[in-house]
Amino acid sequence: MKNIILFLTSIGLLHAAPLNVVVTLPDLADITRQVGGDQVDVYCIASGKEDPHNVPLKPSAITKLAKADLFVQLGLDLEHAYAPALVKESRNQKIQQDGPGFLDLSGGVKPLDVPTSVDRKGGDVHPNGNPHYNTDPVYGQMMARGIAAKLGQLRPESAAMFKANGDKYVAMLQGKLAGWKATLAGKNIKFVCYHPDLSYFAARFGLTQVGTIQPKPGIEPGPRDIQSLAAAMKQSGVKLIVKESFYSDRIPNELAQMTGAKVVNIPIMVNATPEAKDYVSLIDTLVNAFTK
Ligand SMILES: [Zn+2]
Repeated sequence: MKNIILFLTSIGLLHAAPLNVVVTLPDLADITRQVGGDQVDVYCIASGKEDPHNVPLKPSAITKLAKADLFVQLGLDLEHAYAPALVKESRNQKIQQDGPGFLDLSGGVKPLDVPTSVDRKGGDVHPNGNPHYNTDPVYGQMMARGIAAKLGQLRPESAAMFKANGDKYVAMLQGKLAGWKATLAGKNIKFVCYHPDLSYFAARFGLTQVGTIQPKPGIEPGPRDIQSLAAAMKQSGVKLIVKESFYSDRIPNELAQMTGAKVVNIPIMVNATPEAKDYVSLIDTLVNAFTK
């Protein structure tokens, strides 16, 4: 029996078991599946419906992490509230921060919105700069390349296949980028969002974020904050308030009444709304939110 298995493996008829991959966000799950194909079994910690900074713990996450070959996070402290503790709790040496199966994709990111003074106690959830770079599809290409390279390190015999899948996915995103840019070009769109999660998207496509409802990332506004934001919106002629799907619409609606702007619900990660079913449709949905 053993000889038969060895023989079948050597002629490529038996595939090795898929690599067990645990990721934090559905965006990473989609891209990992695109790149890894049937060589990966992906478990995602966040559903996509929640605040990505604050994902409720599921006991199944620890079990999955305990037998994971690879753990992937966006980084820049986005997952700070839950991922470091979960990874440690898993007691899986492979996926600890210095292990071969730990991948933080933020290494190549040039962080935006880096605070000049940091006070986590004050509730600022972006102490090392803005972590929401997944909304920029050029960083989406970087994410695909990073995942392909890491999978190739973990399974060298399939590295060429991972690289080919990654290259194909990157080329597809590059093609889509031209269309997204053309759709948003020259529109001079000004907007306000609830939390600063579109900074990279706005920078990529030349949109102007006039302010955020939260005066600091993660901090809810008081009446005075809302008054001064409404004044800034009127002064700059802002007609659009984008509201991330997991926030209440109470304050956005209040601001809309004060300013005459329109509120549009948006996803900031895959699965946050029914339209954002994968990474490409997430970006499609965001582009549409600014053109309707
Ligand atoms: Zn954030």
